[in-house]
Amino acid sequence: MPRCLQCRQKFADPLTAVNFYRAPEILCEKCREGWKQCLLFKSKKHKNMDEEGYCKQCLKPLATHDTRCSECVKLSRRFTLIDHLYCEYQNKDIVKETMNRYRNSGDTALCEVIASQIHLPKKQYDFIVPIPSLIKEDMKRTFNPVTQVLNAKKVSYTNLLVKNRTTGSTAFQGKHNMKNLFDLTQAAHSFNLENKTILLVNDIYTTGVTEHQAAEILFVRKIGKVDVFTFVR
Ligand SMILES: [Zn+2]
Ligand SMILES: [Zn+2]
Repeated sequence: MPRCLQCRQKFADPLTAVNFYRAPEILCEKCREGWKQCLLFKSKKHKNMDEEGYCKQCLKPLATHDTRCSECVKLSRRFTLIDHLYCEYQNKDIVKETMNRYRNSGDTALCEVIASQIHLPKKQYDFIVPIPSLIKEDMKRTFNPVTQVLNAKKVSYTNLLVKNRTTGSTAFQGKHNMKNLFDLTQAAHSFNLENKTILLVNDIYTTGVTEHQAAEILFVRKIGKVDVFTFVR
């Protein structure tokens, strides 16, 4: 009997004529159900972001008939807004617990769990770009939570961004002292980015400031469009 990568319990995964050709399950039914309960959109149809009741940019549920949430309105005063956030899961319950454990430990089993549950948008992008964390932070952790999952999913990506060492919080701190956390890498300068489409990838979407700061650096290079994919929000 296989052991669930999430809860380490043994579970039955009987082969039938129907599932014979699929990859073996790595999660027990309870854990699979737990992930399902955290889906932002319960049916596939809703993955199309034109759903009413959600902010078109960041997928935050809206109380009124607005099309953009108050956080995105606030972001739009400072940043060129990203085109769309793609995200499947709410950061709660089993998903939140998994993300916390994974970010603190880099546990490769949890990395595989996350990689198996998330799906990047089925669109063509010129560049898939992980949002970096401080190199120092990564060294302390000895892994980068975003690229480790992309590697597990065999998604090829380009490192166009580095994170500056000198800046601190990503919270709104007023217009004057909010410095951009990111810079372009050496490699980024050798690419022609004009009119290119980019998918930025981060692990958790919270205020949107990090993602918009990353996009801001790229918009300077006249890129065409930026979408963002995060594992959870
Ligand atoms: Zn389990
Ligand atoms: Zn929003």
